Amino acid sequence: MKACRKCHILTNRSTCPYCGESTSDNWQGYLIVIDPNNSKIAEKAGLKMPGKYALKVR
Ligand SMILES: [Zn+2]
Repeated sequence: MKACRKCHILTNRSTCPYCGESTSDNWQGYLIVIDPNNSKIAEKAGLKMPGKYALKVR
């Protein structure tokens, strides 16, 4: 899995399917967002889509 450098979503692609930013293999930790509208963590991190997100991306 790779992580988007901008929105931190995890994907198998070399570019992010949501924002088009390049993805990185160098990431740590992850967060699963099921319902972004009802998650304070997601709101704080600016996450709008359900999915898996990396906590740190380099
Ligand atoms: Zn992205």
